Amino acid sequence: MNQDSFVLRGARVIDPANKFDAVADLVVKNGKIQKVSKSRFEVPSSQVTDVQGKWIIPGQIDTHAHVAGISREVDPSLGYGMLARAGTTTVVDMGGTGKNMIDGIKRNGAGLNVAGQFALIPGLTIPSDNPSRGEIASTVSDALRQGCIGLKMLGGYHPFSPETTAQIVIEANAQGAYIAFHIGSKDSGSHLEGLREVPGIVENGRLHVCHVNSYCRGVVKDPVDECQEAIEIMKTLKGQINTEVYHAIANGTNGACDKSGNVIANVPRNCLAARGYETTIDGMRQAIKDGYASVIAVKSGDISYISGKEALEIYNKSNTMVGMSFPVNLPASAFHLSTVKDENGDFVVDAVSTDGGSHPRNVAIQSTMALVKFGALTPSEMVNKLSWTPSRMLGLLNKGHFSEGADADITVIEPNSGKPIMSFVDGSPIMIDGKVVGKGGKMLVTAAAEKTMSDSGVNFEIIDLSLSKLYKGF
Ligand SMILES: [Zn+2]
Repeated sequence: MNQDSFVLRGARVIDPANKFDAVADLVVKNGKIQKVSKSRFEVPSSQVTDVQGKWIIPGQIDTHAHVAGISREVDPSLGYGMLARAGTTTVVDMGGTGKNMIDGIKRNGAGLNVAGQFALIPGLTIPSDNPSRGEIASTVSDALRQGCIGLKMLGGYHPFSPETTAQIVIEANAQGAYIAFHIGSKDSGSHLEGLREVPGIVENGRLHVCHVNSYCRGVVKDPVDECQEAIEIMKTLKGQINTEVYHAIANGTNGACDKSGNVIANVPRNCLAARGYETTIDGMRQAIKDGYASVIAVKSGDISYISGKEALEIYNKSNTMVGMSFPVNLPASAFHLSTVKDENGDFVVDAVSTDGGSHPRNVAIQSTMALVKFGALTPSEMVNKLSWTPSRMLGLLNKGHFSEGADADITVIEPNSGKPIMSFVDGSPIMIDGKVVGKGGKMLVTAAAEKTMSDSGVNFEIIDLSLSKLYKGF
């Protein structure tokens, strides 16, 4: 099917931007959408793929995943193939470096579009946890130059003071960079208390608030009340924030302990404490033995969750430096946050993401299809959450819809199983029947990265974040 023009025939085409939801032929020419035709579009049969009974949506855009991380023990670029198998066509890496993205695409790219957020790790990627204004400004401009579209603050792992956090937002906004925040400061944590700080941190600025579901795990109060408060906070920031939730019950974190045997990061400490475990290496070992904590490692060439005895061996062997997961996300919180609308009928949370990629939980399409089956979302609303609004969040005006001339990024779904079975980027197949056929990839970068990208040899496209929902506020 590697041809300039083809027709996907007879599927239900769902394109809410054009208020279209009907059985149609989707016609692709030279990597672009030529037409969505309710009547049969006549072309030679060699150019036709019969997808009767399937659903076609504009290529899924995952606004939060991990393919370019820094301190991971598995190769995060394996996540490209995992995302392609999950039907994703465009991904935002939430915390890596430009170099990691470039190298990863060359090594394991699967034909996706990828935009990256530069991870702010004190002492490693930013001079300290108390950087000067000048240091923040040069960190932002360096991030853009090396091919990231913005920055990610990792409040659950490397928190700054609320004042420094606010300063980073101000500087990123001033330079027009995308700025994302895993909630938490030195004064709070990766939970509702951190979310309560957000209005004070953002003030009149712009911010992507990451995986809102993860702050509604019942750490501070009843999770239903946590959701309600989170919703109220997000409503007060409407027009200023981009938001997403993911649906997997498994979270993603690490098991690292310091020399005294204490678990270092806020997120795994919360997870252990939630079930009454000590926040120490012994507590972690017990949680692994009990099957509560899993280790994330490569098994038969695939990144998997590993539990029990095998996990304990990996944990000990790695000196605690290993990715881990706990079943701490509450489906009820994810459900509520995915479906809730404000008084104007707009979704409070913009998108369904995975927080996956190299974490084996790339379930956004299947889980959102399940919400459709449940009756909680219409098919068009599902596409809003998976493709259309994500395209607006990033200012990717040529994606997220099937208007004539739009990029031919396409995801085909088997509606009974809810599984993606085929996907295309710029009209080229990247996944067919669960097999990755895409290679390389295209980095979405700002104009500041033009030289880096030309030198890298990796395909790229310059995007304009001033057109994004983050900065336009629509
Ligand atoms: Zn993440």
